[in-house]
Amino acid sequence: MSSFALRSWTEVSRRQITENFRAVRNVVGASVEVMPVVKADAYHHGAVEVSRLLVSEGAQWLAVSSVEEGASLREAGIRARILVMADFLPAERAGLIEYELTPVIHSLPDLREWDQLAVRSRTPLLYHLKIDTGMGRLGARAGAAEILDAVTNARHCRLEGLMTHFASAGDYSTSQTEEQTATFLDIVSDLRHAGVEPPYLHLASTIPVAYGRSHAWGQLVRPGHAIYGYIPPPRGDVPERILDVKPALTWKASILTVKDLPEGSLVGYGGTYRTSRPTRIAVVAAGYADGVPHQLSNKGKLIASGKLVPILGAVSMDVTTIDVTDCAPLAPGDSVTILGREGDASLDAQDIANVAGTISYSVLCNISARVRTIYV
Ligand SMILES: *Cc1c(COP(=O)(O)O)cnc(C)c1O
Repeated sequence: MSSFALRSWTEVSRRQITENFRAVRNVVGASVEVMPVVKADAYHHGAVEVSRLLVSEGAQWLAVSSVEEGASLREAGIRARILVMADFLPAERAGLIEYELTPVIHSLPDLREWDQLAVRSRTPLLYHLKIDTGMGRLGARAGAAEILDAVTNARHCRLEGLMTHFASAGDYSTSQTEEQTATFLDIVSDLRHAGVEPPYLHLASTIPVAYGRSHAWGQLVRPGHAIYGYIPPPRGDVPERILDVKPALTWKASILTVKDLPEGSLVGYGGTYRTSRPTRIAVVAAGYADGVPHQLSNKGKLIASGKLVPILGAVSMDVTTIDVTDCAPLAPGDSVTILGREGDASLDAQDIANVAGTISYSVLCNISARVRTIYV
């Protein structure tokens, strides 16, 4: 492999992920467990590496989206509890048992199926039940009486957690989160009166932790983005932020070529940029197939020799062209920073998302599989 140089790669700081996890734990305190969300390959930080690290830091729970994601953690030797959050298909039920994954059940009919499976497998299968308290996506949209009925009839499996998910956690200009919390807590209270009291109630992802919505922490919180160093920007009348985290991932790429173009030259597909002066360009070995958003064409920046420099023309599949006229001399093989920090210049996933008209989650998740990850 040594005959292949890296065209584009990410550097993930183990230390920063550890510090972010510790910061979340300090904020919620010892009475609330932290279940880091490592779905989507840990938001491109590498699910196996990140999970090993967090388990060694004391994480008892991890959350993934699918049975397949959970199974690959088991195959890598991860022994922590694993919650599968984004539903599963009937054909995947056997995999949940085989890999000792804990499902989130998303409807009352699915709960009956899970109970039938518990009968057939002769084990008291655990499950968490998600209630749709107003997000209008996954989860049982049902009242306390129906839920109580379904839970008590599912005699062969055990309700370990009751959860919900917020639609507008970061938007303090709407009462949606408070309404969802109230709906959830009302159902919890009715169940408790009927003697049903699961050990874990959980509602909170990154934002309700970061902004101290502590009545929605329950016994377990589910931070994803915060573990990787991001807290999405909130809106409205926002309370004080109580969590401080920093990005753990840096994304770099190699320069393939540097050359001088005369004034008036067109750059890239469609000739969407014309040089307004004699311009030194560098062609960088990362394009939209690597995850550089195409929307950065003629809008975004990269960092070259410690300076923010503009992207010229269209981002293409494999390469991106930048203006390095005002930079210290650069040569093929030198690296530039797509996401990260060089000296005073910095670009994080939120900055990129702002320019590309998307969200920081999507910038990280779209870094493609061909971009190698190096742990530092
Ligand atoms: C992805 C996800 C989370 C984590 O969200 P962040 O905003 O990244 O902290 C928590 N809960 C559920 C149900 C999720 O799908």
